[in-house]
Amino acid sequence: MTVVALVPAAGRGERLGAGRPKALVPVRGEPLLTHAVRGLLASGRVDHVVVAAPPAEVDQVADLLRPLGPAVHVVAGGGERTDSVRLALDAALTFAPAADVVLVHDAARAFTPPEVVRAVVDAVVGGAPAVVPVLPVADTVKQVDADGRVVGTPDRSALRAVQTPQGFAVDLLRRAHAAAEGAATDDAGLVERLGEPVATVPGHPWAMKVTTPFDLAVAEAVLAGEEGR
Ligand code: C5P
Repeated sequence: MTVVALVPAAGRGERLGAGRPKALVPVRGEPLLTHAVRGLLASGRVDHVVVAAPPAEVDQVADLLRPLGPAVHVVAGGGERTDSVRLALDAALTFAPAADVVLVHDAARAFTPPEVVRAVVDAVVGGAPAVVPVLPVADTVKQVDADGRVVGTPDRSALRAVQTPQGFAVDLLRRAHAAAEGAATDDAGLVERLGEPVATVPGHPWAMKVTTPFDLAVAEAVLAGEEGR
């Protein structure tokens, strides 16, 4: 069983306002990307990691990740997240042509516990062709129209917030990306468009996406608490 993990990390991170790509923003001395890749490897289930870096930063990112060993590869990302995933997937299949399982993990979810990675891999290996980690939604969610007027209130008990890594049988993710028209905010969404089932496993609060300066402060605090134990 060969497992490859793709890490799209080519976003500019403008909402974070750190003046550099979000993946390279440090938390307790190390970039988000380093934390993310280390977490994938720490699961003990991932054979290769392919990072899609901002095209101008490929060499810098390769230097940064070299200490994590030869299982980590860096390629140039694309204009949208979907493009970065597709480029990383193409590269992964040259490094690991016999890959069975592919994970897609955002660099911004840098503190995802290795148990979540293992749960996703184990679910795919167990026969689910597409798997996402999820959490219940604490807020009531409203649907609004273009003017911001509320048009509906979905039943919260049926909603889930979706995290990464998302796991797939390799052939299914390839088919989903080949059929994809336009960008998607997650890869399971592309699989859903094919009409294929997507299973869920429990996510974890630490798999939060670091998007804003507030999220960065939360991540700093969580990690400080961990290191202090
Ligand atoms: O912008 P957002 O936080 O949704 O991006 C999710 C992930 O996709 C981030 O890790 C970001 O670096 C990555 N991304 C990418 N290529 C892009 C845009 C975003 O790899 N062109």
